[in-house]
Amino acid sequence: MAEKAPKKRKPMIGLQPEGDVDWSTYRGVLVVVEQRGGRAKPVSWQLLGQASRLAAKLEAPVMALVIGSNVSHLAQEAIYRGADRVYLCDSPELENYRTRPYSRVCLHVIRTYKPEIVLMGATYTGRDLAGAIATHLPTGLTADSTQLEVDDERLLLASRPAFSEKMLATILCKQFKPQMATARAGVFEALPRDESRTGEIIPVPPQIKPEDIAVEVLEFLEATGKVNLEDADVIVAGGRGLGGPTGFRLLEELAAELGGVVGASRAAVDLGWISHDHQVGQTGTTVRPKLYFAIGISGAVQHVVGMQNSTYIVAINKDPQAPIFKIANYGIVGDLFHIVPAITETLRKRKAGVGVLSQGAASTPQTV
Ligand SMILES: Cc1cc2nc3c(=O)[nH]c(=O)nc-3n(C[C@H](O)[C@H](O)[C@H](O)COP(=O)(O)OP(=O)(O)OC[C@H]3O[C@@H](n4cnc5c(N)ncnc54)[C@H](O)[C@@H]3O)c2cc1C
Repeated sequence: MAEKAPKKRKPMIGLQPEGDVDWSTYRGVLVVVEQRGGRAKPVSWQLLGQASRLAAKLEAPVMALVIGSNVSHLAQEAIYRGADRVYLCDSPELENYRTRPYSRVCLHVIRTYKPEIVLMGATYTGRDLAGAIATHLPTGLTADSTQLEVDDERLLLASRPAFSEKMLATILCKQFKPQMATARAGVFEALPRDESRTGEIIPVPPQIKPEDIAVEVLEFLEATGKVNLEDADVIVAGGRGLGGPTGFRLLEELAAELGGVVGASRAAVDLGWISHDHQVGQTGTTVRPKLYFAIGISGAVQHVVGMQNSTYIVAINKDPQAPIFKIANYGIVGDLFHIVPAITETLRKRKAGVGVLSQGAASTPQTV
């Protein structure tokens, strides 16, 4: 009996671009800059840094898209941060983020200027906007990436944790352009700000239609009580070694002296000692502060991936073999309940002009 020829699969409705598309006309890496009230989210500059690295391999331009009201300074800033070309859509109607008007501007820019890769922060806004755009284009989208590379065929290799964060999946979008990804804050390094960089700023008209005004933003209320780990320069994080929720009071006092915020390991969060928004790590927030205190935290790999890019790491642990010391710049071996109040007190005295905190790098853990 003759073998049946396999049935040709029809593409899913809406997933087929109309007519023949010449994907080779798509060139360059575009970062959608996220801002609120004229202040850019740090993840936007981190993504511009990674976009520059990818674009160098692709020998293609780095582009940025700035949308908002009174945001022309951010277009200039994007050039200092690595963009060769910035599309600027500056209009009073775009003051507050709304999915429809913002996605119309993005779609107009992508369809007109054809970037081969589009990147956004994996923030609430970035996730909403990226999903809306990807379905309209239509193209694939990898959400929440933690690694972004390109291969020899100009394909974006976007990796993200999968299967309850136990594996890393690398996702490719081979058939459509642009290749889109959102990426976590704190994962990539921003380029040093360079005021000598020059670039082109291209104004883009707002693409607003009457039906887009269906949603009106009356007021913006900041979420109260939630910690902002992503933007913090100093994080004082504690783990199971704190022994209970009251241990976090010591950390709050130290953080207050340093102008920082309190972070936590998952163990402390799972034990109910502190809320999940404080959690640093693979299933928490990825952070990149200038100074990170790891106090009573052993240094499990799932914690370390979330904070290893901190500029300086200070570890306080009673176990000299704790893995956290392998990545710490400064290590103090001893009981945190003695060490932390002593540091806080020394800082207080220093502020008051009494005594000075002794300085000096400890390449090996110091026992107290
Ligand atoms: C899929 C998955 C995802 C995960 N995601 C995360 C994540 O996002 N973030 C995260 O943090 N973990 C995560 N984990 C959990 C992680 O594997 C560890 O279990 C967790 O980080 C351990 O937290 P800890 O260091 O506070 O506790 P422990 O590992 O129990 O360490 C406590 C440390 O405190 C020290 N200590 C105790 N008493 C004192 C004292 N008096 N003075 C000084 N030091 C003291 C001990 O020596 C010890 O090193 C994840 C695990 C899995 C499987």
